[in-house]
Amino acid sequence: MRLNLFWKLGVAFLALLVAVLLPVDYYGERNLRRDYQRAGFEQLSAIARIALASPPIVLSLATNSRTPGPALHDWIARIAASGARVTVINAGGVVLADSESDPETMENHAGRPEIRDAFAKGDGLSVRRSVTVNRDLQYYAVRYSPAGGSPVVLRFALPVRAADDEVWALRRRLWLSSLVMLVVAGTASLLISRSFASRVERLQSFSRRVADGDFRPIEADRSGDALEALAASLNDSASRLDRAIRTLTEERNLSSAILGSMVEGVAVVNSNERLLFANDGFAEILELDAPPKSGSSLVEIVRQTELIEAVRVVVAGAPRVEAEISTGTLRQRFFAVTVASVRAMETSGAVIVLHDITDLRKLERIRRDFVANVSHEFKTPLTAIQGFAETLLAGAIEDPQNRIRFLQIILEHSRRLARLTDDLLELSKMDADRLDLELDRLSVSQFVQSCMETTQRSAKEKNLSVSVDLQGTLPDIAADRRRLAEVLQNLLDNAIQYTPSGGRIKVSAVSDREEVTFTVSDTGIGIPKVDQPRIFERFYRVDVARSREVGGTGLGLSIAKHLVEAHGGRIWVDSEVGQGSHFHFTVPVFQPQHALSRPDH
Ligand code: ADP
Repeated sequence: MRLNLFWKLGVAFLALLVAVLLPVDYYGERNLRRDYQRAGFEQLSAIARIALASPPIVLSLATNSRTPGPALHDWIARIAASGARVTVINAGGVVLADSESDPETMENHAGRPEIRDAFAKGDGLSVRRSVTVNRDLQYYAVRYSPAGGSPVVLRFALPVRAADDEVWALRRRLWLSSLVMLVVAGTASLLISRSFASRVERLQSFSRRVADGDFRPIEADRSGDALEALAASLNDSASRLDRAIRTLTEERNLSSAILGSMVEGVAVVNSNERLLFANDGFAEILELDAPPKSGSSLVEIVRQTELIEAVRVVVAGAPRVEAEISTGTLRQRFFAVTVASVRAMETSGAVIVLHDITDLRKLERIRRDFVANVSHEFKTPLTAIQGFAETLLAGAIEDPQNRIRFLQIILEHSRRLARLTDDLLELSKMDADRLDLELDRLSVSQFVQSCMETTQRSAKEKNLSVSVDLQGTLPDIAADRRRLAEVLQNLLDNAIQYTPSGGRIKVSAVSDREEVTFTVSDTGIGIPKVDQPRIFERFYRVDVARSREVGGTGLGLSIAKHLVEAHGGRIWVDSEVGQGSHFHFTVPVFQPQHALSRPDH
């Protein structure tokens, strides 16, 4: 590039020089020639004047004679001593005498322009090559009319060559000085063009750097010319570009961080239902193997027709459509879909937002089930009470034998209703988070013993053996005695209820640094694996008829779970159908530094 610029400048400079030199040369030469000619003619006319002033008498003699005689020759030789060639021609064009040639050998000169002009107008000029002496000559001819003789023309000539030499000398000087000028100017222009080219190159590499994303400013060269101004304005644009790109990048990073961290699925499709953007949540919710690529068609990646349909309606012009989809087969999840139309500059399409409403749906189901279960649970005892009361009123009251039995049934069912109501009240208290635990330091063995009395009695009635097996040294626990007793009692009651007579029940406890794990084991009917995760749900019973028969409400375990978790522990079951069950729950160890503080729940 540098060389290129140099050559361009060099050639332009040379062309300029030649363009100036050629006319200078041409006009210089012409003027010089003209000046020389004029000087020559002036000299010739001076010679002519002198010649005509000297006794022209010889001329009058000559005009009539072809042999001029020695007088004329002398005269001619004297004038020719000034350096000019002198020729005398008569009116017929015949050369009478010549200072340099023999007139005999010379042709007729009547046709020579200067001779013609001289005879016609008195004098004549011409510059041309002499046929006689074979040289470039300039001629000056004057007519001379002697008294009594016919007119003759005196012609004086000087060689033109002297002017030629001068012209060439001038030309040599001109070209030589131009050459020197060219070399000096060329060197100067080389230096200038070099610095110019290197500055242009710096600007060029700067703009390339900016295009590659490096916005560091270019150093100012303090030359004060247009290139410096250009560098300054480029610096300015680069820093502005840098700021704009930084802002855009920050904004983009922020929005992609926001979208990326959202649990909601967000995607944008264009009017051809092709994906422009999708966050991780979108891929996760729709259980896509890989994050969808931009440009992939929505129908190819989404199976939920409700979603596709909603997008179509919005793309067709609707501002906003709400829908609901579900995903997964084993663990079904539900999502609220909001599709809204977006219009950003030239692109139009739809933005899809998927919001997880699985918990909401689950809660709704639980509430529905709960209401159904409660109604159902109340219905049986109420129907029984109502039926037997009606029977009594209808006359059975007179029957002493049945009367007592009927009243006992009514009492039993009302007790059941009372139990149900108590359990429900307790649960609703827990739900409302109004369970105030009074945490105390409890000795595990004392606590277990206090629960055993009632158990022993009922176990005996069913012919069950009950044993207690506590680890040697157990730390004290932090618990609400009454509430925790409820838990243990509940588990023991269940163990008694679901273990056929002759079976064994055992209460054991082990500890680690953090917590004490209680286990209530029985050799009863056991719980099928499928039911195990659900027995802690409200009203869930493996065998509804059997539970009712033993007076169960289906709420005991869910209350126990709530209470254990309120203490900061866990509850779970291991069971084998026909082998028996092991119910475990943990209670945190009493920590003196946390004394009397209430665990979060
Ligand atoms: P219920 O009042 O019916 O006993 P629970 O919530 O206490 O209600 O128990 C829920 C269900 O769990 C019971 O209906 C029963 O089917 C099962 N269950 C609880 N404890 C045992 C156990 N020790 N052995 C076998 N099944 C049990």
